[in-house]
Amino acid sequence: MDLEKLAVIKTKLQSEKTRLEEELRQFADQDKHNQENFSAKFPSFGDEIDENAAEVAAYSDNLTLEGTLEKELRDVQNALNLLEKGEYGKCKYCKKDILAERLLARPSSTSCVACKKTLTQEL
Ligand SMILES: [Zn+2]
Repeated sequence: MDLEKLAVIKTKLQSEKTRLEEELRQFADQDKHNQENFSAKFPSFGDEIDENAAEVAAYSDNLTLEGTLEKELRDVQNALNLLEKGEYGKCKYCKKDILAERLLARPSSTSCVACKKTLTQEL
């Protein structure tokens, strides 16, 4: 892949990382020692029974969202690490180059279209 496309992808990944971290910080505490680890905060709406019930529901939603965003963040960080090492853009299954178009559309992709298709069919 040419350097120009790689630069575009790196910028995309970095802004995606910032976006995900900002989103997570709105409802979760970031681990000081492991920046990829967040813990959803327990919200406080009040002491009434319905307020407590709403807190539990909101907390449960936050946990789900936290899991989704953390996974995305890990994928983005992983892609950035591969870029640093110069190993970015290879399919983790067949080791072939992933199409630049696919990477530009989804920079955290780690598998080529063919392998992804095979995996999806298996599920
Ligand atoms: Zn592949």
